[in-house]
Amino acid sequence: MQVKCSLCGKVEDICKIHKDYAKLAKNKDAPYFCEHCLFRVKTQAKDVQAPPKPI
Ligand SMILES: [Zn+2]
Repeated sequence: MQVKCSLCGKVEDICKIHKDYAKLAKNKDAPYFCEHCLFRVKTQAKDVQAPPKPI
């Protein structure tokens, strides 16, 4: 199944073992992030959660 990354627009072919396959098969409008963008999103989310360190 071909899916398009919601962030960078990269088209990828995912197979049934992909963790988002069922979700995307059910809802084609569900957001999909390629590995690269997923990593970026996760890293950013972690940065936001972490409290600012006092200097
Ligand atoms: Zn991407």
